[in-house]
Formats: sequence, structure tokens, C-alpha cells
Amino acid sequence: MMLVVMKTDASVSETDDVIQKIESLGLKPQASRNADHAVISIVGSNENIELSHIQAMPGVAQIIPSADPFTLVTLKHKPERTIVNAGDVPIGGEEFVVMAGPCAVESHEQAMSTAKMVHEAGARILRGGAFKPRSSPYSFQGLGEDALKILLAAKRETGLPIVTEVITPELVPVVSEYADILQIGSRNMQNYFLLEAAGKANKPILLKRGMMSTIEELLLAAEYVLANGNNQVILCERGIRTFEKATRNTLDISAVPVLKHSCHLPVIVDPSHATGRREYIPAAAKAAVAAGADGILVEVHPSPEHALSDGIQSLSFGEFKTMMDEIRRIAAAVGRRVGTADR
Ligand code: PEP
Ligand code: MN
Repeated sequence: MMLVVMKTDASVSETDDVIQKIESLGLKPQASRNADHAVISIVGSNENIELSHIQAMPGVAQIIPSADPFTLVTLKHKPERTIVNAGDVPIGGEEFVVMAGPCAVESHEQAMSTAKMVHEAGARILRGGAFKPRSSPYSFQGLGEDALKILLAAKRETGLPIVTEVITPELVPVVSEYADILQIGSRNMQNYFLLEAAGKANKPILLKRGMMSTIEELLLAAEYVLANGNNQVILCERGIRTFEKATRNTLDISAVPVLKHSCHLPVIVDPSHATGRREYIPAAAKAAVAAGADGILVEVHPSPEHALSDGIQSLSFGEFKTMMDEIRRIAAAVGRRVGTADR
């Protein structure tokens, strides 16, 4: 990408002329304004861009080429951090947002009791899978739209906005009817048709890092969503596959500061899928707070040993409450706040 930085005293019409010139070269400009000057990002690769005409135009201060393959997600393009609004919950602001609930919605009772408990303990978003992308075709695949209806009932009862996964572009409309945030799972991070559909949806997107994806690939996946018109994107580090077998995945905690360094989107951590074992979740969640994440996505079940999916990595109600007390203390130490039942 390229950044055309306008002079502080450049007029609006000079900026418009540069935008038109870039368009006439068959390129895609995206303008934004910093405190004192306009910046026009030329979206796409740097190949074959003839810059001399633009450089000479009135009002242009400088052109900065960048080696980054993405544009819209970068802090260079948009220096102020994005706050994603899920219902009435801002993500990426001062509050460290806890999203909690079962891996999969299994029944009305299971989802409702979990929703009430996590709400009482200070979670701000309810998670729950309706359409589950399972590694095995013989595993529980989720209750589908029935699960969405149960989640909606739990939202009405507790007020918690819902995050749930969408696994195909065709399902985006129905999931959008119920959900406040559409989750794109690890297995689908590079499903480009789904990313395009998410870009056209009018709901925030929770984009999970592919288990074998680099940070650059995660940012390129987010770029797809932004390039298709949706800038309400939350990135989620959920562990990557390494040679280590003591945990289900390896939590790449440094992904949090790396992403925060170059990208304006909120970043959260999923300590459940990252570790795969409930006894390690509180430590990973505390690390997320300390590393500067904006929240966590965590699995909780009323009876983890009977869960239809991901029971070994689901916290019991008691374990969840204890973890909330622990992360509250870390959050206070780093100047963040964790919700309470009454906000
Ligand atoms: C999930 O959140 O339940 C899930 C399937 O996660 P991931 O896509 O990270 O495996
Ligand atoms: Mn799960």
C-alpha cells in the first residue's frame, strides 16, 4: 500500500483532486483525517503505481510507500483505535470485556442457567455455538436455528448481547437476525467467500485466528472484511498449533502486543481453545489482561463433564466466578475495568 499525506493547509478540493487522480489511475483511494492533515491510502499492492503525477499535485506533502500488504486495518491508515459496539457494549475501550458461555447451546436450561450465572459474575457478552464446525462428522454439530432462539431468550432474560458462529455465507442472514456479533471460527479464517459476506453484513465480526495462520494472514483476513465495507471487527487470538502437546494449542500471547502495535482493531484472547484444559484457563486469561487484550472469550458449562462439546476446556460456574475475581485484580493493576452484574 501507499499513503499520500496531504499538507496541513491543503484545501478540501486539493484533497478531492488527489482522490480523483488516484481513481483515474484505476486504483482505490481511502481517505481519512488525522488531527491536522488528511491521509489518502492507496489500497492494494504497490506494483505498477506511477507516483510522479500525484507527488507533483498541489497540497501533497509526501508519499510513503509501505511494505505492508494490508491497508485498512493499520494504525497508519486510521490512528485512532476502533471501538466495536455490540448492542450497548463497547469493545476496545477502557473496559476489559468478558464474553462467556457454553461452547455449544445444548438445551434451553443449559444456556439459560449459564447466561444468568455469567451475567451475575460480570460477563458482558453471551457466547454459545449454534452451528458448530466440528473436526469430526460424528461429533455434535449444534442445534442450528433452535439454538439461536434459545440464545435470544437468554439475551431477553439477562440483557447480554450474543456472539455466535456463522460457518457459511448462506447462514449470514439468519445468524444476523439473532446475533449481536458474528463469529468467524479458526477453521474458516481463510474462507474468503465467508469473509466477503461478513464484510457486507451489518453486524460486528469476531474473527478468530486460524490455528495454522500467521499474524499477517489474520490481518489480511480482517482486511477482507474491512475492504467489503464492515470496519466493526474484533480479532481473537485462540492459540496456534505447535509441536507442544501439553496444551491443545499454544497461546501466542505476543500476538496481542504485535496486533496492537500495527492495527486499530480490538484484540481479545480465547483462553479455552488456546489451552484446551480448564485448569490452565485462569492463568491464560490473566496473561491476556496483562498483555493488553481488550477482552476474553471463554467457555463455561453448568456441568462440564456432561458437555456435548469441549467439556474439558469449559469452566464450571464456581471456577468462572473465581477467575473473574482474579482477572479483576489484574485489570485494576493495568488501568482496566471488568464488568459487574450492574455494570
Ligand atoms: C468456538 O469458539 O467454539 C470454536 C469453535 O473456536 P475455534 O474456531 O477457535 O476453534
Ligand atoms: Mn469450543
